[in-house]
Amino acid sequence: MSGSQYFVNRINRVVEQLQESALSAMFITPGSDLSYLIGYHAVPLERLTMLVVTQNHEPFLIVPRLERSAALASPFGATGWEVISWGESDDPYAIIGDRLNGLSGTIALDGHMWADRVLTIQGRFPDIDCVSAAPIINAIRVIKSLDELDHLREAAAAIDRVHAQVPRFLRAGRTEREVGRDIADLILAEGHSSVDFVIVAAGPNGASPHHEVSDRVIQDGDPVVVDIGGTMPSGYCSDCTRTYSVGEPSPEFLDSYEVLQRAQVLSTQAVRDGARSHDIDAAGRNELTEHGLGEFFIHRTGHGIGLDTHEEPYIGPDNPTVISSGMVFSIEPGFYIEGRYGARIEDIVICTPEGPETLNKQTRDLVVIPSS
Ligand code: ZN
Ligand code: ZN
Repeated sequence: MSGSQYFVNRINRVVEQLQESALSAMFITPGSDLSYLIGYHAVPLERLTMLVVTQNHEPFLIVPRLERSAALASPFGATGWEVISWGESDDPYAIIGDRLNGLSGTIALDGHMWADRVLTIQGRFPDIDCVSAAPIINAIRVIKSLDELDHLREAAAAIDRVHAQVPRFLRAGRTEREVGRDIADLILAEGHSSVDFVIVAAGPNGASPHHEVSDRVIQDGDPVVVDIGGTMPSGYCSDCTRTYSVGEPSPEFLDSYEVLQRAQVLSTQAVRDGARSHDIDAAGRNELTEHGLGEFFIHRTGHGIGLDTHEEPYIGPDNPTVISSGMVFSIEPGFYIEGRYGARIEDIVICTPEGPETLNKQTRDLVVIPSS
């Protein structure tokens, strides 16, 4: 399939969904939905860029004149569909209104559209109702194509290469921030085009799941949670957590870590076509609860990943989403004990017809870095 055909098919699926849902149009502004639908990684600017897909007209992309050549160079430019550019003294909303011969009915707006855009659209087209396009787009994005699965495998391999080298950065006497800086450099060196987040949470900081880095000096005996991720040139994201121990961990921490390791395996093994999100969550959570750690597992088990680090499907308690082949998400149970320490183990997993395929291959055992 040619590059642009790939995106034509995605737009055609949106048109089918508009017909099925009796929506007149869908408006998509820069962000991962736009990247997904037309391969155009537009920078969000105050000037309006918007993809307009309707039931009855050909789709078109409206862009500021200064973005025209970038838009034409994207896969959308090769589809033959129109790129309309507007100059500094034009009114892009008027151009859209003319194109669509006025606008009525219900319009779906991308879920991350800026509020001022939404309000402008509502003000300029008073006869329309607006709904979120997220349910339609997410239902398409949640099932990854074979190409996307390869991109996610590459992303996981890249972040695995970073984790393989983390032990040489971790030692007592260095700060989390120093270690984090080394890791960020390595995330780029190992093939990512950007660093999305670096969490280095030593000792008590590990009890905060979204701690980033601080000036805390790593102490001998500290467990250290390292959760890192970036975006590859393909646009797809990596996300992987391993827990390390600088010097010998306490026996109590080791016992809890073993329970966590079993919980992570149990949730992973529960991944299969037709499983429900809450069952995958419960498989690991029950193991932690049986060993007194349930109350310290304070977040859901995982999140989908693709062009965004966090996207559908979410894996959590009370979530009845049916998991099916082609979905990709994290399995990342943890425990967080205020004032003491935390631990988390995170892999990205594909649901395949045969069951789970775990993309991250680095050891899930606690990596103990001997004191020097
Ligand atoms: Zn993570
Ligand atoms: Zn994650």
